[in-house]
Amino acid sequence: MLKKGYKPNKEPTLSIGMILPTDFRKRLIVTTPSSKKKIRIEAKLKHLEYENFKKKEITFKGSHSNDFFIIHSVPAGRGFHWEKTIDVKVAGNLHIKNSNGNIFVINEIKLEQYLASVATSEMGSACPSALLEAQTIVARSWIIAASEQKHFKLGIDACNDDCCQRYQGITNITNKSKQASKKTFGHFLVHDNQICDTRYSKSCGGISENNENVWRESPKPYLRAVFDGSSKTIPDLSNNQKLQTWIKDPPNCYCGNKYIDEENLKIYIGKVDKKGTYFRWRVRYTQQEIKRIVNQKCNTSFEVITSLKPLKRGISGRITSLEISGLENKKNQNIQLNSEYEIRDALHPEFLYSSAFINILDLDDNQIIKTITLEGAGWGHGVGLCQIGALGMALSHKTSAEILSHYFPSTKIKKMYD
Ligand SMILES: [Zn+2]
Ligand SMILES: [Zn+2]
Repeated sequence: MLKKGYKPNKEPTLSIGMILPTDFRKRLIVTTPSSKKKIRIEAKLKHLEYENFKKKEITFKGSHSNDFFIIHSVPAGRGFHWEKTIDVKVAGNLHIKNSNGNIFVINEIKLEQYLASVATSEMGSACPSALLEAQTIVARSWIIAASEQKHFKLGIDACNDDCCQRYQGITNITNKSKQASKKTFGHFLVHDNQICDTRYSKSCGGISENNENVWRESPKPYLRAVFDGSSKTIPDLSNNQKLQTWIKDPPNCYCGNKYIDEENLKIYIGKVDKKGTYFRWRVRYTQQEIKRIVNQKCNTSFEVITSLKPLKRGISGRITSLEISGLENKKNQNIQLNSEYEIRDALHPEFLYSSAFINILDLDDNQIIKTITLEGAGWGHGVGLCQIGALGMALSHKTSAEILSHYFPSTKIKKMYD
C-alpha cells in the first residue's frame, strides 16, 4: 500500500480491491492464464477452499506481461442505480483472501497499466486524445497523492469502483488509452513540489467548487472554484434572482450544450453511465414522494414537508447546508443537513445529481406543497476537473496541459520517472 507524501522514482505497483469483504461474497470464479480454466473458490468460516486445497489466502501470479485473469461477477456502480456485475480481465497478480468468511480479491497491478484502463472506464474510448491524457494525469496524481485512502483499513490503495476510480480491467483498453498512458508516462500534477490531490467529477455545471465546501478539510490552493468557460470571472450567484438566471439561462460553458450536444454525449462517456442530462436537470416530486424519500433517508416521520430552505451555498451554487421543515405529530419540526453529500442522498431515492439546485413549489389553497421541482446544475461534487468540460475543451482543440491548468490553477506537470 502506498504512503501519503510518497514521491515515486520508478513505476509503482498498486493494490486494487476488486471484490471487497463488504460485498459479502462466499463464492468466486476466476479464469487463470496458465490453465485457461475456471477455478471455483469458496469462502468457509476461516479458510478458502478450491479444488483439493484449503488455504487462508491464495496468490495467482501472472508471469508474462500479456497474461490476464478473468474475475467473474465483479460489482460495478456499488450503491448506485446502475449497479451491476461484470466479468473483468486483469493483468498483474491476483491475491484472494478470506476476510471473516467473505471473499476479498486484490489485483496487484503496475500503475501505468492500471491507468490505461481507468481512462477508458471513466470516459468512453471515442474521446479525443487530449481528454484521455488529462484524465490519465489526473487519475495518476490522485491515486499517488493518496490523500483520501478510502480503504486504508483493508490495506488497499483503491477499490475498482466509482467510490475511488473506475477500473474495469484491460477489457476497455484501446490503442488510444494506451497511447495516452504512454505519452504521459510518469507525468504528475504538482504544486509546491507535492503531487496534487486531483479530484474530479462528471460535470461541474458551469462553476467548479472549492474543496472545503464539499469535504471537511482545509482549502487546497489548486482546488479553487473556476468558471468553466473562457472568461476568468466567476459569475456571482449570491442572490435568488442571479441563481435562477444561472440555472435557467446558463452562459456558454465548456460542459454546456454549446460545446457538447448532450445527445452525442453517450459516445464519449463510460459504458456503465446512464444516459442523462448532465449540465442542467430537473426532478419533480409530489408531496407523497418527497415525504417518503426524506423520511426513509433521514429517519424522520414527517406527515407533510413544508419547505426546503438552503442555508448556505458554495461558489458553484452547490447547497452545503439545507433545512428541511415539516409537520411531525402536527407540530413544526426541522432537520439540518450539513454537507452536499447528505443533501444529495436525502433528496433522491438513489442519489441526486448535484446539490446545486433551486426549488420551485406548487402550493395548494392551504399553502401546503403539492409538488416540488428541483432544477439543478451539474453532476457530482464539482471539485477539480470537470470531465464533461474537459471533453468540451478537448473537442475545441485545447491541449491536455491547457485543460489541466484551467481546472487546477497554480500547478505544473512534472515527469517523475521514465
Ligand atoms: Zn473505493
Ligand atoms: Zn464544467
